[in-house]
Amino acid sequence: MRGHELLMIPGPVDFEPEVLQALGAPTTSHVAPVFIEVFGRALERMRAVWQCPSGQPLVVAGSGTFAMELAGANLVVPGDRALVISTGVFGDRFEDLLSRHGAEVTVLRAPLGGVVEPDRVEDELRRRRFKLLTVTHVDTSTAVRMPLEPLGDLGRRHGVLTVVDGVCSVAAEEIQQEAWGLDVVLTASQKAIGVPPGLALLVASPAAVDAFAARRVPVRSYYADWGKWLPIMQSYEARQPSYFGTPAVNLVVALGVSLGRILDEGLAPRFARHALLGGAFRAGVDAIGLRQLPLGEKARANTLTACYYPDGVSGPALLAAIGRAGVTVAGGLHSEIKDRYFRIGHMGAIRAAAILGTLGALETGLQEAGHRFELGAGVAAAQRALSR
Ligand code: PMP
Repeated sequence: MRGHELLMIPGPVDFEPEVLQALGAPTTSHVAPVFIEVFGRALERMRAVWQCPSGQPLVVAGSGTFAMELAGANLVVPGDRALVISTGVFGDRFEDLLSRHGAEVTVLRAPLGGVVEPDRVEDELRRRRFKLLTVTHVDTSTAVRMPLEPLGDLGRRHGVLTVVDGVCSVAAEEIQQEAWGLDVVLTASQKAIGVPPGLALLVASPAAVDAFAARRVPVRSYYADWGKWLPIMQSYEARQPSYFGTPAVNLVVALGVSLGRILDEGLAPRFARHALLGGAFRAGVDAIGLRQLPLGEKARANTLTACYYPDGVSGPALLAAIGRAGVTVAGGLHSEIKDRYFRIGHMGAIRAAAILGTLGALETGLQEAGHRFELGAGVAAAQRALSR
């Protein structure tokens, strides 16, 4: 029975019943006063969750890749130079995307499992003038988390727009968009925001909106054009009816509910909960003897864990055994090592029970697969970490 299973992949995640109920409510007109109020309030709540009081929020139907497109298509004019910081598959995706929009892209690629040090970024920014830099806060293919604060600072000092792919971090890992000087922080609904897939979300700083306004070349994507969407967002916030493309009414209602819950929990307690649960999960896999992909504790995200399969253990067989125990986890994604590792998501509404249950299922699967370890060691280590 699906309701008693755990979906522990790095998105989509398990969603709160209250959010799913909101999704199932009768659809209203996109210009009904009740919906205008809900959408307006959701936009205001985004500003609070992103910690960007002077930012412009945008909500458009699409996946996280479309949120990337919403940033790239509007900020890049053909010939602009862009610096992409890549710690995995999703950093590389930005290279491809920005090139498509005519940018001359330079990529600073981290070694597998590592981060790109801010000094390397600064060297590059000193060498040439860039219009924007992009960074993947948590790359879901490697579970590597990049420090954002130094990059915001570098961006400000070098007059470069900073674009953060926060698809696997917003509302789970700390981001202070305005205080850290980040120009665009984008995400999608299906991860720590806690709403089923289908919404591309971002908040743009005044500098990013100004850079868009200053462009003399039309945006090459019609659907992604901020010129179409900004007036719509402003209308909803002013509680006025407007239309460009039909919004995903039910998803936006669900978004309003989920953002409300995030703010009720409080941002600092929410980040602390993810750090505690993520740390407990990592303590568990360490105790079982699994090697993690990110190099060093500082590079490890709190939203997901990536581990290599132990020698002699078949990946597909292990994932199937974990599944039989009632937990779904994800295989590898990074092309270099795709079949050698797996990923466990732990973000959103989850509590300690999901961490302990997943480690238990993982231990059961590893034992079936013949991995030698002390049965129960992972769960015990996580429990110790949780009670600290
Ligand atoms: N960036 C990151 C960091 C992601 O994890 C993902 C999705 N896993 C994306 C971008 C792309 O999002 P989507 O699959 O919703 O298009």
